[in-house]
Amino acid sequence: MANNLSTGEHDDQRRSGRLFVVSAPSGAGKTTLCQAARRHLPDLVYSVSSTTRAPRHGEQEGRDYFFVTEARFREGIDAGQWAEWARVHDNYYGTSARFIEDHLAAGRDVLMDIDVQGAAQILRRYPDAVTIFIMAPSMEILRRRITARGLDSGAVIDKRMKNAETEIACRGMYRHVIVNDDLDAAVTRFVSLLKGGNA
Ligand code: 5GP
Repeated sequence: MANNLSTGEHDDQRRSGRLFVVSAPSGAGKTTLCQAARRHLPDLVYSVSSTTRAPRHGEQEGRDYFFVTEARFREGIDAGQWAEWARVHDNYYGTSARFIEDHLAAGRDVLMDIDVQGAAQILRRYPDAVTIFIMAPSMEILRRRITARGLDSGAVIDKRMKNAETEIACRGMYRHVIVNDDLDAAVTRFVSLLKGGNA
């Protein structure tokens, strides 16, 4: 009986997508890098999480997040719906296992932007996931960047800095660490990793 294992055509059809996980403390430049990645790699699927937090100005249901109630989120936990979930800054966030597995099975690469607790769960469930941690060159620069955004009060900035310390302490869990010193260089490296390079 003929088998088709050696035919490149069929192999291509069976290739599943790669799963990328990116985490960073707020102010490290993750949003800018992810936006750049989406411009450079239009076929990359950006995983849309569900969250119990309220939409911010300009955020759209289904594009930025699926905004759900806490009751709905808990139902998802009980039903085993989330590939990972975490409580971050007093709200729940989770990724639908179905969403990512359907895209991966269809051969599409998926990028997840999640916190360090979620990244640890994804690594247990999908050990081949490529994990990337983005950080500012120093805590002082991180504080300056968060302050310059003008979005947060002093107390919130202090809380973000504390969270950042905890997150940065977990960076050893990630396969790649990008120090976002020079934005163009960071974008180049990030895009190269997403293209499958080892930069
Ligand atoms: P924000 O509310 O600012 O959009 O996101 C706050 C934090 O939640 C960010 O660190 C972001 O990476 C993280 N986050 C967003 N979606 C998910 C998710 O589905 N799971 C986990 N574990 N973290 C998430």
